Amino acid sequence: MNFSKLPLTQAMLTNLDTLGYKKMTPIQDAALPAVLEGKDVMAEAKTGSGKTAAFGIGVLHNLDVKKFRVQSLILCPTRELADQVAKELRRLARFAHNIKILMLTGGESFGKQLGSLSHQAHIVVGTPGRVLKHLNKESLDLSNLNTFVLDEADRMLDMGFIEEIESVLSFMPKERQTLLFSATYDGEVKKVAKEFLREPVIVKTTADELPNEIEEIFYACSDKLNTFVKILAQKKPKNVIIFTNTKLEAKELAEKLIEKKIDALAIHGDLEQYERNDVLVQFANGSTPILVATDVAARGLDIKELSMVVNYDLPHTEETYTHRIGRTGRAGAKGIAITLYSTYEMEKVEPYKSSEKRLFLEADTLPEAKGFEMKPEFVTLVIEGGKKDKLRAGDILGALTGEAGLQGKSIGKIDIYDKQAYVAIAGDVIDRAYKYLKDGKIKNRKFSIWQL
Ligand code: ADP
Ligand code: MG
Repeated sequence: MNFSKLPLTQAMLTNLDTLGYKKMTPIQDAALPAVLEGKDVMAEAKTGSGKTAAFGIGVLHNLDVKKFRVQSLILCPTRELADQVAKELRRLARFAHNIKILMLTGGESFGKQLGSLSHQAHIVVGTPGRVLKHLNKESLDLSNLNTFVLDEADRMLDMGFIEEIESVLSFMPKERQTLLFSATYDGEVKKVAKEFLREPVIVKTTADELPNEIEEIFYACSDKLNTFVKILAQKKPKNVIIFTNTKLEAKELAEKLIEKKIDALAIHGDLEQYERNDVLVQFANGSTPILVATDVAARGLDIKELSMVVNYDLPHTEETYTHRIGRTGRAGAKGIAITLYSTYEMEKVEPYKSSEKRLFLEADTLPEAKGFEMKPEFVTLVIEGGKKDKLRAGDILGALTGEAGLQGKSIGKIDIYDKQAYVAIAGDVIDRAYKYLKDGKIKNRKFSIWQL
């Protein structure tokens, strides 16, 4: 299970150790030997099991850094997922200088991507539509490609990307390594694996892993909103994702919760990229305890330690149910999954009763939640400066704990992007932090600051 048993360079091993990757996860242990041998691999393992490194280490190991051409393409279903993969790859690539990883996803400026492509890259991480557009316009050349990775293959097929993927494949050399990663391995994925992979090594770890410990409760209720509030008051979860089936409902539910003094934000397809990012950052850093989401919008969201998942609307399929609730109870912590249904949805709930560990209760058994409020632990400040300004977390932390006199514990997560940084500040000292950053300097420079 140690990375050192793999034929990796010492620099790579040292970096893995620095990242805190002391041992391989089961899927890495199962897939990496074949990946490093250059074989085609079809790997199945559930979300959060370390699939990115299972292909990422292989992709980086096989890279010829001196050859400044696209040698690997990784396709992901959404830009959030592509972003996560690119971030993980960059962490894994720290052992070497000058490995250029480029993101090509929709929702970003095409022209800017053209510019980046003209400077070449070693690895492209992208979404099918945008990658195809670049291929068609000949701004992306895959003739030097040696590894193709299809990440989250099942979601990709769910989202109907099959044609785009096939077109993208037509631009690649036939002689290549293809790696397919998926959280499930059903008929559809099998079919695609057969079509795209050559004599693949098939690895799966889903059966070996400990199942997440999740308490599943279904509540029959006439008033979903009030039932939800009562559940919050009773279970006091730290953070909750609540799913609705439509984006309109997501928006409305967040508004209704705020009216009830329960802090919430909605994430749905209508948001601009920057708005989505603002919402995701605030949820992940504890600046809002509740995220109202649609399935599509929640794709790729990787929040560690999620205490509760709620199905405000019954999911359309049991598969979606499993996918939704699988986000809680990760990393050994116990999670709670609540499903609310109205009396006229009795029939739809019936199939869920086949599992004995699920509890079916009536909402009127829940105690009243008088005066219950839910406030976030932190407030997010945005600093208009980021990596491009060479701003680091340490600079921000230094400014706040130095002259502003804040205690380290009042400062939460710091996320630094190219042009912006987000800092989570404890609610009771937010005014002081804001004033200091607004009037003072970070790294001897003035930056615009605002509060989300
Ligand atoms: P998946 O793609 O299977 O959903 P990820 O690749 O996103 O999972 O990995 C989940 C988390 O586990 C990430 O935060 C990653 O940094 C971490 N991780 C991956 N491999 C290891 C390892 N060998 N040891 C410790 N943490 C790891
Ligand atoms: Mg993944």
